[in-house]
Amino acid sequence: MSLTVLMNAGPWLSVPPPGYGGIENVVATLVPELRRLGVRIVLASVETSTLPVDEKISVFPDGQFHALQRPYNQVCGVAQAHLSGVVRALHTRDDIDLVHDHVEAVGLATMAAMGPDAPPALHTLHWDLAKHPELYGNLDGGDRVRVNGVSASQLARAPQALRDHSVGHVYLSTPLAVDADRRPQADKGDYLIILGRINPGKGQDLGARLAQQVGFPLVLAGPVGPYHRPEDLAAAGDEARQNPDVRFFYDHVAPHVDGDLVRWVGTVAGQERDDLLAGARASLFPLRWEEPGGTAVVESLALGTPVVSTARGCLPELIEHGRTGLLTTDEEELGELVLAAGLLDPDECRREAVARFTPAVMAQRYVELYERVRQLAARP
Ligand code: UDP
Repeated sequence: MSLTVLMNAGPWLSVPPPGYGGIENVVATLVPELRRLGVRIVLASVETSTLPVDEKISVFPDGQFHALQRPYNQVCGVAQAHLSGVVRALHTRDDIDLVHDHVEAVGLATMAAMGPDAPPALHTLHWDLAKHPELYGNLDGGDRVRVNGVSASQLARAPQALRDHSVGHVYLSTPLAVDADRRPQADKGDYLIILGRINPGKGQDLGARLAQQVGFPLVLAGPVGPYHRPEDLAAAGDEARQNPDVRFFYDHVAPHVDGDLVRWVGTVAGQERDDLLAGARASLFPLRWEEPGGTAVVESLALGTPVVSTARGCLPELIEHGRTGLLTTDEEELGELVLAAGLLDPDECRREAVARFTPAVMAQRYVELYERVRQLAARP
């Protein structure tokens, strides 16, 4: 296929990311598969990105993640400086067939403002946007600019302007799903795990109370605000409490963390993360927000760990109740579901991941959307 895509990963982290990094992980997973399908990739990112691509463009020497702690207008300033590099490239060359943009709100607005001669653009929505319609108020790229979601429920909740420009959704995927059915089976422990940022929406406080109720050990893995290790958070002292996720942790989660039944292990990565997930009886998602994409959900399935969750956001799309996990609309029922999760078959979870959540499945779907976006842009 002769198609050149400018993949705009943004200026926040290098690709692949050094640790936590949602968008950058998606790009790092998608790009090798697209290139295998013959797509040429021009990556717009930061200079420290090491992902093999056909060409790189960047404005910043390294990731500007630290800038995300600043006021919103300054965050936009960093995004805009990066985007000016993308716009310059699009103005000065004619080999780009399509822009695949991942820069929240500002990227889409920039693409929309570029005028009819710019290449068509597909903007992937990564967050739950229902609470932020103002970010996407006046979207008008005509037929040239389109969006996709990472689940149907995310799109259904998105502001009307986005839904009007949508070409559908593409589920997140994980390299762990490749050959998941041939992976040696991990011995299942009797513990539960919540893998993800410590945040009220992810519901670790609810999970901790649940663990105490049912008597299963619970491992909480993930950063608290910018702190990846318990010792870093302890060393940061009272100033750390300015971060809302730190306050949530201290006020609602830490009182249950006894180091025995409920443990916070900080951010885990690589083999340690995979082993922890694979060995868990169930992966818990006691969500209070509408999870838009749920990478940790598909990672759990790929590693043969059933999911127990509140039926929010994309969870009912990713999990088949009774086969790959157990869902409920009633928080009070989660305890019973945790007890029943031991009856679910890890092989069914792996099979589901192999069928639906491999990088190849995601890339194939994006190639279809690229075609659709180009057709719509070419419409007289
Ligand atoms: N993650 C990780 N280590 C941790 C916690 C999370 O590697 O200690 C990864 C997790 O495996 C997943 C990503 O961070 O790939 C979280 O993505 P998800 O879509 O589940 O959540 P969000 O983007 O909302 O944080």
